[in-house]
Amino acid sequence: MKLIHDTGWAAQPATVEPHLVGDIDCDVVVIGGGGGGMSAALRLADKGVDVVLLEAKTLGWGATSRNAGYITNSIAADPELLGFLLKRERLRELYRYAENAVHFTEDAIKQYGIDCGYQPEGIVMAAVSKGQLRHARRNAKVMAEAGSSAEFVEGPEAGLPEGFLGGVREGVGGTLNPGEFVLGLRATTIASGVRVYERTPALDVTDTGDRVTVATPNGTVKARKALLTTNADSSGLAIAPKRLATPVWTSLVETEPVAPERLDDIGWTSRAPMVTLHMIIESYRVTPRGTIVFGTRRVQTGRNPLPERTPDQHVADDLVRGFHDRFPGLRDVELTQAWGGWIGMSSTWLPVAGEASDNVLYSLACNGHGFAQAQYVGHLLADRIDGAPLHNDLAAIWHGRKRFWPGFVSGPALYATWLADRAADRLSALTK
Ligand SMILES: Cc1cc2nc3c(=O)[nH]c(=O)nc-3n(C[C@H](O)[C@H](O)[C@H](O)COP(=O)(O)OP(=O)(O)OC[C@H]3O[C@@H](n4cnc5c(N)ncnc54)[C@H](O)[C@@H]3O)c2cc1C
Repeated sequence: MKLIHDTGWAAQPATVEPHLVGDIDCDVVVIGGGGGGMSAALRLADKGVDVVLLEAKTLGWGATSRNAGYITNSIAADPELLGFLLKRERLRELYRYAENAVHFTEDAIKQYGIDCGYQPEGIVMAAVSKGQLRHARRNAKVMAEAGSSAEFVEGPEAGLPEGFLGGVREGVGGTLNPGEFVLGLRATTIASGVRVYERTPALDVTDTGDRVTVATPNGTVKARKALLTTNADSSGLAIAPKRLATPVWTSLVETEPVAPERLDDIGWTSRAPMVTLHMIIESYRVTPRGTIVFGTRRVQTGRNPLPERTPDQHVADDLVRGFHDRFPGLRDVELTQAWGGWIGMSSTWLPVAGEASDNVLYSLACNGHGFAQAQYVGHLLADRIDGAPLHNDLAAIWHGRKRFWPGFVSGPALYATWLADRAADRLSALTK
């Protein structure tokens, strides 16, 4: 198995856009060209706003091209826990926002004609123990009460692999190839009239009240307003709210192609993409190229500035152990590559957007479930920065100027959670 630096989903773009040299002016500068930043810049260009998009590497280089490819209406934290912590109306708003994000991204795929193997087959939050199955039943109830499209499924008719007992089937979303999606969205952004500068990291952002100045290694951008869509790197910029994001490294592994008959033999007749109900999820999905991509389970924190890195061998080995435990019938399948990416965890564990200063807005619609949400929030923030009233879905995650409390995400806490998940696995194996 090769441990790789780039995404394993697609090749890097064949050409790179110019980097910024000199001083330029614009109406709005968007900093960070992931799905969130590209979507914001596209919306602004569409409205005739003079927009500049700065990206430290190439557009989509971050989590947007590296993720597992689930277009999901999940909101990071466990639904039952959210139901316990939040008022019912608040939860309804969050699920409405997340479901609209899914539809937003589906519309973008159609509108821009992006060929990325999107399969709108829904996703199953799958149970691997009786305890998880009971949890799934409770989650389905909370989600249904919050107006989310979700149903409890159980037994062989769920079409899940042996060992997966059932779960919650999300009625919206599905899976795609994020690498191909990014190449399509990047091409659309470049063609749209957005002034794109790649390999141009923003080093400093200053808001002097009448304008925002962004310093880069070889030039500056002066703008009326700015958007920060920098995800895991957010805390690298002093203007971002303190404790906005804790960077967390997440890894994925891909197998060689697996014959469809073998998937039928192990009972995975639905081919439903799955995430488990562990505290730190495991994900398993079949790709359009016939391989299986699986990941998460063991995550690690980092500090800004974030290094470019590959997954650690011991983390990849742990993921493979998990795969072999869950799919004993596929133990002989070769593993080809492993890659990973940085996600930004907010201290509330919920997606957030707000104001860093009078003229600088930010978003962090992430927490490992932000592929569709980051794009939707980018679009809504673009409207907001252009003077529109706060959209209901943006209001659902709006943090304004409030501070962030210290979060629970730390290296030791994540390791302890991994240990607790493994202990639960052992217990359920003993009581089978
Ligand atoms: C391994 C993995 C699996 C995941 N699986 C899923 C999944 O299946 N489904 C799901 O919904 N979500 C998933 N996620 C999360 C999802 O990918 C992210 O929530 C989403 O892509 C975030 O988009 P973004 O645009 O906010 O951030 P990013 O895509 O990370 O983009 C931020 C960009 O900002 C640039 N940048 C940073 N700092 C600067 C700076 N100072 N100047 C200029 N540019 C800068 C970076 O280079 C980067 O390109 C996963 C993430 C990972 C890493």
